[in-house]
Amino acid sequence: MLQPSPLAPEMPLAVLSHLPEAVIVVDQAGAVVFCNAAAETLLPGGIGGLVQAHAAVPYHLLDRHQRPLTTPELPLGRVLAGQHLCNEELLLAVGAPARIRWVAITSCPYSGPGAGTALITLRDISPAQQHNAPPPGLYDTLTGLPNRLLLMDRLSHALARAHSQPHGLMALLLIDVTGVGLTDAPLIGSPGQPLRADLLTEVGCRLKLQARPETTVAHLADNQFVMLLEDIVTSAAAIELADQVHTALSQPMLPQPVPVETRIGIALGPGHYQSADAWLSDADTALAQIKPDLGQPWHLFDNSLWMQQDLKLQTEIGLRHAIERGELRLHYQPIVTLSNQEICGFEALVRWQHPTRGLLLPGEFIQIAETTGLIIPLGWWVLNEACRQMQVWTEQNPSMAAFTVSVNMSSKQFSQPHLVERIRQIVEKTGFSAHRLKIEMTEGVLIDHSDSIITILEQIKALGIKLLVDDFGTGYSSLSYLHRFPFDCLKIDRSFIENADQDFEKLEILQSVVRLAWNLGLDVVAEGIETPRHHAQLKALRCELGQGYLFSRPLAPDAVEAMMAKKIAQVPDSSPAT
Ligand code: C2E
Ligand code: MG
Ligand code: MG
Repeated sequence: MLQPSPLAPEMPLAVLSHLPEAVIVVDQAGAVVFCNAAAETLLPGGIGGLVQAHAAVPYHLLDRHQRPLTTPELPLGRVLAGQHLCNEELLLAVGAPARIRWVAITSCPYSGPGAGTALITLRDISPAQQHNAPPPGLYDTLTGLPNRLLLMDRLSHALARAHSQPHGLMALLLIDVTGVGLTDAPLIGSPGQPLRADLLTEVGCRLKLQARPETTVAHLADNQFVMLLEDIVTSAAAIELADQVHTALSQPMLPQPVPVETRIGIALGPGHYQSADAWLSDADTALAQIKPDLGQPWHLFDNSLWMQQDLKLQTEIGLRHAIERGELRLHYQPIVTLSNQEICGFEALVRWQHPTRGLLLPGEFIQIAETTGLIIPLGWWVLNEACRQMQVWTEQNPSMAAFTVSVNMSSKQFSQPHLVERIRQIVEKTGFSAHRLKIEMTEGVLIDHSDSIITILEQIKALGIKLLVDDFGTGYSSLSYLHRFPFDCLKIDRSFIENADQDFEKLEILQSVVRLAWNLGLDVVAEGIETPRHHAQLKALRCELGQGYLFSRPLAPDAVEAMMAKKIAQVPDSSPAT
């Protein structure tokens, strides 16, 4: 409870007692001089939560992204430090499970009766946030969200716009919420029971919080809501939003925890849709296709006709399932010691065994994996599979015991938290020796992550893993960066090898890169060796390692095994008889 200070003269301030907004007067030390009844109701347990994060009160303040405020960000501390707040809109979470309200906070200096220095008001603006003086007839009176009529109008406009700019991608999310009190309670419940109206309002509020300002959030009917996303780049944005919505609605509602089940049907547009009804109907079909036992709260409508036309979209949607359906493969390209052409390791290169399109090369899907973020799970699968396979081969075949494996990692992967720990776990779990693992990255990684990357690279190296710059010479090629990073090896891009036998300038560059690597104590691998001439030239330059079609193309695991078996079989033949 808020305790008025004994100094507070009750009478003059009493006029504020019955104001609907919360009014608090504090002294210089932040002690309460006066507070009215609305403040006691709005801030149960006192004003501690306005001045200190984690105060022992049953409420806390959040910013508009639902991030709890830290102590320096809390309003009372800022007011005592001399700041004035003017209708600052924050979220107030009260109780457990939390009920979230919008509040607008204003402060002003106070020089009335008592020892107060500042007067603070908190106005509950939740209804205003939702209603915002909507024109009648187009908004749902319960939640304040656009109603079906307005939604259909917006969908029709979006379709009309899309047909004049045919490349835009949009997504319609049909959100169905069910749960005790939502589907079986009367709109206005009896005392002590959650009100369905309150629950639906809360759902609308949470959906709004997940949406970007330009996203339409509408209340379609009873327990169905719709979100319309326009101008998205990939379907990943819609799926990400569906996951966020599911998480937000999974948080318990109202005074007693009311579990809410959320299902989301997604239909991408504009596709072939000529009407808003058809589009909505496909989202509804997707909703009905959700299989609860799969544990995925959303389903993407299989808009085959259109998706088939849009290969990129189709690739993206298929790739999403490729990992879980076991459609990814690794092929292994031998890396040889150029002086004797003996294999000393492999580069692991990902392929996708597509159910209808056959074996796809990375050029057909890596870029899409990068833009959708799918490169993260894909990258982990590759690292794990490469280590696992190499360990199996090591145990089966002693002649492979010293072979290394190089795994490509994209710049995106380096942004993940716990990256180094996860790499360590994979190496440990598969039993593969970290000293035989090489991680390849392009110069882009260094540019995207600047100084923060050095620590990560050093930690990876401390595990015993070797680091390699891939496609060297194609990026920004600032030679000066090389010594700043803990690399072990440079892989010269194949564009330098390609014409080096005809192009004198290229040969010069090649020569200086090999020399540079030597001076920096780095190994050099040349990639794209296709002809005996390339091979001879690189050998003459004393480049140590190489890979290319001259020695072998990337091989499927069974082809690697066949190659190794053949080599073993050849050994006795080729060894001189004693
Ligand atoms: P990269 O890492 O530079 O891999 C070498 C590419 O050159 C491979 O293409 C390989 O098949 C090809 N290559 C090797 N020798 C020759 C040759 O003599 N001549 C020619 N013309 N090409 C040769 P691939 O397998 O199509 O991979 C392309 C790129 O895709 C890779 O380039 C790498 O950047 C990326 N990639 C492959 N697997 C992964 C992966 O698991 N994760 C990530 N992030 N990227 C990958
Ligand atoms: Mg590579
Ligand atoms: Mg390369």
